[in-house]
Amino acid sequence: MTHSFPNGHLFVGGEWQAGTGAEIVSVFAAEGTENMAFKGASREDVLTAIDRAKAAQSDPAWRDLKPHERATYLYRISEAIAAEVDRLSWLQSRDTSKTRTEARALVASAAATFRYFGAVLETSDDLMTASRGDYQTYSVHDPIGLVAAITPWNSPIASDAQKAAPALAAGNAVLLKPASWSPIISLELARIIEQAGLPKGLFSVLPGSGRDVGNLLVEHPEIGKVSFTGGTSTGRHLAHVAAEKLMPISLELGGKSPTIVFEDCDEDQAIAGVLFGIFSSTGQSCIAGSRLFVQRSIFDRFVAKLVQATKALKIGHPFDADTQVSSMVHADHREAVEGYVQQALDEGGEILTGGARPEGVGLDDGAYYRPTIIAGLDNSARTCREEIFGPVLVVLPFDDEDDVIAMSNDNDYGLACGIWSRDHRKCWRVARAIRAGTVWVNTYKQFSITTPFGGDGASGMGREKGRAGLRAYQRQKSIYEDHSGAPLGWARWP
Ligand code: NAP
Repeated sequence: MTHSFPNGHLFVGGEWQAGTGAEIVSVFAAEGTENMAFKGASREDVLTAIDRAKAAQSDPAWRDLKPHERATYLYRISEAIAAEVDRLSWLQSRDTSKTRTEARALVASAAATFRYFGAVLETSDDLMTASRGDYQTYSVHDPIGLVAAITPWNSPIASDAQKAAPALAAGNAVLLKPASWSPIISLELARIIEQAGLPKGLFSVLPGSGRDVGNLLVEHPEIGKVSFTGGTSTGRHLAHVAAEKLMPISLELGGKSPTIVFEDCDEDQAIAGVLFGIFSSTGQSCIAGSRLFVQRSIFDRFVAKLVQATKALKIGHPFDADTQVSSMVHADHREAVEGYVQQALDEGGEILTGGARPEGVGLDDGAYYRPTIIAGLDNSARTCREEIFGPVLVVLPFDDEDDVIAMSNDNDYGLACGIWSRDHRKCWRVARAIRAGTVWVNTYKQFSITTPFGGDGASGMGREKGRAGLRAYQRQKSIYEDHSGAPLGWARWP
């Protein structure tokens, strides 16, 4: 079913209004067409949103809500998202060229995230801590105030929800800046949040360039926390700004995640997992398993089977039900990926499959790229070290456990890892030795909102999801309350 696009108005502190900033163009890269163009947020729009957010957040009607009362907003938002899966997934596919199947899963994940953080809020306990004197000691949690959420284009509604749900649950106001390549779904999320009755001003969606809108939000003195997902160089810049303000910032950044295939694995299970890990989402996934290490004793056989399976993947339009590899998000991004493949060739790599645009009916106008496997590179090659963020896999042999742990960890990133082996003790040892926020053993790219997620090193700092995800948007406070009724002795008074 075809749906309509939103009218391009921005949600500025609870009011729908035309943006007064630079033009934003959303494209449907799978067909090389334009979805819609509209004016993004200007400096004035951002400042208005901040003023309205400040007033709404400090209003006792929001600030003093009991957890179970505030949770009802999150449940209503969750239900409203779930009720619109078809429209939201259609818009997400149009905005990012993701397959409908994947877009539906992301919408469902956003609904689940709001529901989960409503439940976490209702069931979180403040603590009475062990007292060491004639007083009671409590550890309680307050909202931070105004939270800026800055998200990338690769899974917009899910990453928006991952920030907005815990931040609102914690009692904050949220100012969301979506990526310029994928603004539509965030505006739709605003419509849903408004319909769910969230008090005006607590949620804004401010599309606009990172350089202008993003920087303004991060630098603004009223913003008390930034939650960022995106590239490592942007994250590093924002961390500097946050350091100047002494402001908490959480950074979910890029990855170059190793997938390790031991000789004792179930090879068919491993091949299916490796394919999904790198080529689903057309490789545009922070946790893509983009560095494959295969034990030397099975290297040739395993890689030959993997190449065969890769060639069989169905490249196609995001609205075709059997498509596995869709278009990339934008023609410019495909060019960047092509640049990396050329770099790999310059570094002495050998393309085993892919390395070109596909040909075929309906593919010529889109930003498609064939799933690509490259061998013959050293782990120190640029293509093995840097995030490509596309359907490009480098394969390297290894000899033993120590060898592969050293090669896996010899990289600036530390986001994720996959291990394939039937030896569970070995899996455990390797999982503990790898520097990564998430390790999958005999599976890959599985997610649960109950389980913390984040990266180490160049992959960022802080964790999202899980019960502690709520605490990332609160200020902890300790309270000591006398229960003796006696004056403190030091004063010798009265
Ligand atoms: P990006 O270029 O860093 O942009 C991310 C967001 O930051 C966008 O909204 C962008 O706005 C904004 N931005 C850019 N410069 C800014 C600045 N100076 N100040 C404030 N905001 C700024 O990353 P991307 O290309 O959109 O996304 C891909 C990256 O995200 C990859 O590296 C991927 O691994 C990472 N990622 C990480 C995770 C994770 O959970 N670890 C999940 C998904 C993606 P514009 O769009 O206007 O430039």
